[in-house]
Amino acid sequence: SPGLYIVAGPIGNLSDLTPRAADILRRADVVAVEDSRVSARLLQHAGSDRPMVPYHDHSNEGLRVRLIERMGQEAVALLSDAGTPLISDPGYKLVRDARAVGRAIYTLPGPCAAIAALTLSGLPTDRFLFQGFLPAKAKAREDALREVAGLRATLVFYESGPRLSASLGTMADVLGDRDAAVCREISKKFEETRTATLVELARLYVDAAPKGEIVVIVGPPGEAPAASEEDADAALREALTRLPVAKA
Ligand code: SAM
Repeated sequence: SPGLYIVAGPIGNLSDLTPRAADILRRADVVAVEDSRVSARLLQHAGSDRPMVPYHDHSNEGLRVRLIERMGQEAVALLSDAGTPLISDPGYKLVRDARAVGRAIYTLPGPCAAIAALTLSGLPTDRFLFQGFLPAKAKAREDALREVAGLRATLVFYESGPRLSASLGTMADVLGDRDAAVCREISKKFEETRTATLVELARLYVDAAPKGEIVVIVGPPGEAPAASEEDADAALREALTRLPVAKA
């Protein structure tokens, strides 16, 4: 049926494409993609011969308007180079504007590097903030880190190999030397996860710009365990037993 289909693709391992995603890629009237060379490979893997159109959120407004027009009568699939569309990838403005005019919107959930790394890290998963790519400029990076430094949450960053070591160093400076994990090439041949503190990891990667794709996970700030009310009551009772008993 007509509408927008947000299709999550693999983050490295083609077998992670879900059967439902493959089915929509075969049946869509058109597939909106970031890079047609990358997506051509996935469409071939899915057995799809559907036409592609390039889409980026900074594409001209006209292109977006036309795609939203088409969703009225046709099935438009949105596909990223890797993982889930809209997550550090194009699509937000397309969904926003499609929703504003009442188009049907479906999502086909699947791989996302941020979530995959979080599950690998061994760091708390109950509360996390997805920060994505930090700004390129040093001052802006530090400001962005300072803004989240006080959050009692695990932090999730996308990062590139050449910038990894410097980034880990800046994180240690601004956030403190927290527990962290570097997850590389998830679901691919050279997949690797390293866990240590930020300072140790910065040292580990100092002269090595590791190849491939990277997610950095940083644990929440450490805190002195707060004394519970029961602890306080017990301490008080214990202290009272040692007080001299007043004679009546
Ligand atoms: N939309 C994608 C998702 O759902 O994860 C993210 C797209 S973003 C442009 C690409 C970044 O995601 C990479 O620079 C890297 O930080 C991370 N990434 C993607 N695939 C990865 C993988 N297999 N292993 C580790 N990180 C990955």
